[in-house]
Amino acid sequence: MKEILVFGHKCPDTDSICSSIVMANLQTKLRGMEVTPCRLGEINEETKYALKYFNVEEPRLLEKVEEGQIVVLVDHSEFSQSVEGIENAKIDTVVDHHRINDFRTSEPLFYYAQPVGCTSTLLFELYKLNNVEIEPTIAGLMLSSIISDTLLLKSPTTTLKDKNALEELAKIANVDINQYGLEMLKAGTNLDKYIEEELIHLDAKTVEKEDIKYVIAQVNTVSIPDVMKRKEKLEREINKEILAKGLSLFVFVITDIVNSNSEAIILGDRTDAISKEYEIKDNIAVMPGVVSRKKQILPLVEKNI
Ligand code: MG
Ligand code: MG
Ligand code: MG
Repeated sequence: MKEILVFGHKCPDTDSICSSIVMANLQTKLRGMEVTPCRLGEINEETKYALKYFNVEEPRLLEKVEEGQIVVLVDHSEFSQSVEGIENAKIDTVVDHHRINDFRTSEPLFYYAQPVGCTSTLLFELYKLNNVEIEPTIAGLMLSSIISDTLLLKSPTTTLKDKNALEELAKIANVDINQYGLEMLKAGTNLDKYIEEELIHLDAKTVEKEDIKYVIAQVNTVSIPDVMKRKEKLEREINKEILAKGLSLFVFVITDIVNSNSEAIILGDRTDAISKEYEIKDNIAVMPGVVSRKKQILPLVEKNI
C-alpha cells in the first residue's frame, strides 16, 4: 500500500502541525503501517516552542501531492487552504473543526467534524473511541493545539469539550496549563524576527467565493501599538499582495492575547464588508473583544461581501 500523508493547512498554526503529528501517531497505530505527518509551510515561533518543549521533530515539508496520493487532512478541508494537487489526491480521512466549503471527493471517506475549538479536541475523542492510549508527548502536543486555538480557553470558539480535553491531557503530560500555555502563546508573539512580507503571510487564510478572493490574516501580540509601529510597511506589503493575487479585500488582524482585543488593518476595494460593522479610520478598525477569525471576523465578511 502507498504511503499515507497527514497534513494541516497552509501557513500552518500550532493546531495544524501538532494535530498532524498526533493524527499520524493514531493512524499508524490503527492501521499498523507508517503514516507520515507533513507540513505545508514554515513553522511559527509558538509551534517551535511547543515542539521543543515536548522534544518532537518538525514534520517534513510537503510542496505538492501526486495524483492518487492517499491523504489525511486535519484542521482544514478547503482546497484553497490545502496542498498543491489536492484536487487529484485520494482524500481518505478528514478531521476538522471548520465549516465545509470548497470541498469534494470522488470516493467515500471518513469525515469527522464538530464545531469545537480545536482539531486536537476531536483527535482526543478519536483516541478514546478507538481505545488507544495517549502517551505523554502526544498529550503535550494536543494540549498545545487546544491552548493555541482557544487562546487558553478564552476564545468564543471554546467549548466544554475543549476544556475537558485540555484538563485531562494536562494530567497525562504533567504540565501546568496556565504556566505552560502563557509561555507558549508568548513565544508566538515574538514578531520582531519577521519582515513585513512574512508577517502578512504568517497565519493567512485565503477565501474564494465565486469571483471574489480575499485574505484574512492574523498575528498574536502582547502589544498592538508595537505592531502598529510597522503599519506603513505592512500596508505597502498588503497592497502588493492585493495587486499580485487580485484580492478584493485584505484584513490583517492584530490580536492582543492578554486583553482579548484586536485591531485590524483593512485594505482593498471591498473594505465596506468590514465598515458596515466597524468604523475604519486610517485603514484601521478597532475591534474590542474580537479574537476569533473563524467565529467573529469571517462570518462578518461573508455576510457583507
Ligand atoms: Mg488552524
Ligand atoms: Mg484549528
Ligand atoms: Mg488560529
